[in-house]
Amino acid sequence: MKDEARRGLADAARLVVKIGSALLVDPQSGRLRRDWLDALAGDIAAARARGQEVLVVSSGAIALGRRHLGLSSGPLRLEESQAAAAVGQIRLAHAYQEALARHGLGVAQILLTLGDTEERRHYLNARSTLNTLLKLGAVPVINENDTVATSEIRYGDNDRLAARVAQMVSADCLVLLSDIDGLYTADPASDPAAVFLPEIRELTPEIEAMAGEPRSGLGKGGMVTKLAAARIALGAGCRMVIASGSVMRPLSAIAEGARATWFIPKASPKTARKQWIAGSLQPAGSLTVDAGAVRALKGGKSLLPAGVTAVEGGFERGDAVLVQDPDGRPVGRGLCAYGAADARRIMGRQSGEIAAILGTPGRDEMIHRDDLVID
Ligand code: GLU
Repeated sequence: MKDEARRGLADAARLVVKIGSALLVDPQSGRLRRDWLDALAGDIAAARARGQEVLVVSSGAIALGRRHLGLSSGPLRLEESQAAAAVGQIRLAHAYQEALARHGLGVAQILLTLGDTEERRHYLNARSTLNTLLKLGAVPVINENDTVATSEIRYGDNDRLAARVAQMVSADCLVLLSDIDGLYTADPASDPAAVFLPEIRELTPEIEAMAGEPRSGLGKGGMVTKLAAARIALGAGCRMVIASGSVMRPLSAIAEGARATWFIPKASPKTARKQWIAGSLQPAGSLTVDAGAVRALKGGKSLLPAGVTAVEGGFERGDAVLVQDPDGRPVGRGLCAYGAADARRIMGRQSGEIAAILGTPGRDEMIHRDDLVID
């Protein structure tokens, strides 16, 4: 597994690391485990020094906040956990800021709700904010916006949230750090015959059936939510690893081959995204392009507004559209960076004119090549 581990972790261009509450917050005292966080910051800095982009999805707000509000250790009512999250999140963000600042890294806090990852316009906004932060060199530290999420419309666990984030930014590796070192055929705490599974390539019903209930008292995730995360990650072409975070510098430990369960997708994030664009979307309109643009697209370029001669349909930004040649023959399909109304205003124009025409700066490409599939 050592090679698999190295390739998965050290070769990832974009890495999402999910930290469970039980690692960050001491279950007895309810205090932040600063030494552990400092060591993790060292791992993150090492990844950044290798040229990798890192996003952190961190739990722990509720676990940290409850002590400060003097809430009992039993289960919390929704409004109590929301109050605890409000108090804990500020401390959590501050702790990351301090720990990463020692390595010269800036931190950006992002609080997401279920709607931000499930509704297209919100999703696109969150995605471009995250991409911008990464481009500018900050480490996004993400959590669910627990203070406003109601029970019907919340993730509740950060395993699935982290997988959605990985999908959103086309990450190629998702690390779930928790208090268990991977997936077993049964709960190893209660069943001595439980067998450890180092590598999974497909989520069969047998694998799904192996997930038990969570054991830790602090976080919300158990094996069920971890396998739900694996389903999202594999579908997005992202490798996922479940590993124990209880050691110091857990990312280094995984890269050196520590025991962990790897989930290996069939496709890369780019291919998975393209398959999704090619297969599952109903085009909401079409763009007709000139002969020069057809040649450029076939040569692997993005579609620029200058090459577009007609826009049909009433699509919104991020919708799938058909791309056709001057004779109406399909060339491919892709996700349009502009809604139909704006697309009509900028078609045939140079990218440098977009800001003046629309009144706000926009993307240079009508369809970026990563969002485009040529027939
Ligand atoms: N968002 C919750 C918190 O920060 C944790 C959810 C989870 O345990 O996965 O406290």
